[in-house]
Amino acid sequence: MSKHILILGGGYGGLLSALSAREHFGVNDAKITLVNRFPTHQIITELHRLAAGNISEKAVALPLDKLLRDADVNLRIGTVKEIKPDEHSVHLEDGSNFTYDMLVVALGSETAFFGIPGLQENSFILKSVNDANRLRAHVESRIAEYSKTKNKADATIVVGGGGLTGVELVGEYADMKSELAHKYGISPDEINLYCVEAAPSILPGFPAELVDRATTSLQKRGVTFLTGLPITKMDGTTVELKDGSTLETSTLVWTGGVQGNSVVANCGIQVDRGRAVVNEFLQSASHPDVFLAGDSAVVFPSEGGRPYPPTAQLAWQMGELVGYNMFAYAKGGALAPFVPVFSGTLGSLGRKDAIGTIGANKTQLKGLPATMMKEASNLRYLSHIKGLFTLAY
Ligand code: NAD
Repeated sequence: MSKHILILGGGYGGLLSALSAREHFGVNDAKITLVNRFPTHQIITELHRLAAGNISEKAVALPLDKLLRDADVNLRIGTVKEIKPDEHSVHLEDGSNFTYDMLVVALGSETAFFGIPGLQENSFILKSVNDANRLRAHVESRIAEYSKTKNKADATIVVGGGGLTGVELVGEYADMKSELAHKYGISPDEINLYCVEAAPSILPGFPAELVDRATTSLQKRGVTFLTGLPITKMDGTTVELKDGSTLETSTLVWTGGVQGNSVVANCGIQVDRGRAVVNEFLQSASHPDVFLAGDSAVVFPSEGGRPYPPTAQLAWQMGELVGYNMFAYAKGGALAPFVPVFSGTLGSLGRKDAIGTIGANKTQLKGLPATMMKEASNLRYLSHIKGLFTLAY
């Protein structure tokens, strides 16, 4: 009898589980439905470039219907409101309901505000194409306003969080500063860029040599780093730091961390701090017909230790495995364990500089080789999902 596979989320984990499931299930064996809140698959690893106007929206928002066309997957645009795993049902905000035989939860993560007063209400985030577009329009309008009023807060951009998201974004701003200043007839030196990081240095966990390279490269282009200084409050346009000092800004971008998706956290499957607990086959620890891909899950290495980081490359690999494991589960066969392959981590520092480590021995890259590797890894992903084809439209 034909199964119904319901996939929640059209990001890296959701898209890849749909494509992988269809490679294993014939069209008569399973109907596959994918629900996503946008009609596009968003390349969120490139959103910093969209926020700075350095890439077109078309390049980071790929139409899901085209990506899924050959896989015979039903696409439904809607926002998931509730999952009822004991009833095998999912409810969308528009009032529609779905039932399933097997469910893939790939709803990604949400920005974590850590209860910092005023932060959520008074900051921008960078989790979607809409966020990036909103941020770009806002920054430009503030610089336009500054050129008339000289209100310094309008020409001050503060990035809260010096992880990869924050560093990549501030790098784009460092490069766009001159063009923006020129457009509005001000000096680039009038635009102030800050990156505030709670830990003693930016990019916690990165090799010291690469942290130094990133810091120096961005400082040379006008970025001021404030490290060891958590943001403790955001009051209107005033950012308060732990040492009692303040920064005045009309633009605080919060990139201070991510947490599990709240729909997943509250649905009744077993969770650990909001992220679904899974076995080695990426099945929910409490509901074996629920599979997880991407940041909605917390996955620990088999030998224990810290969970794997919530990254695009792992979401992609989890999605592919989940497609196969649903097939094995439906047939009563042996499921395959998740064995991630770490190809590396690359972070851009603007248009012409980057840092990263590649390969199992974590070879360090800086400058042009790192920039080219990052570009190559993006192209590799796009060709894997046939996104290059959709870009041609
Ligand atoms: P993150 O959790 O990696 O970094 C957040 C940073 O914010 C941390 O350095 C943290 O110390 C800091 N922070 C937290 N609270 C703060 C406060 N109150 N004030 C100031 N700073 C504060 O988050 P992210 O950068 O969004 O990355 C999320 C995940 O995505 C990570 O696993 C990351 O590696 C991955 N990522 C990868 C890439 C890439 O591969 N190019 C790009 C972006 C993100």
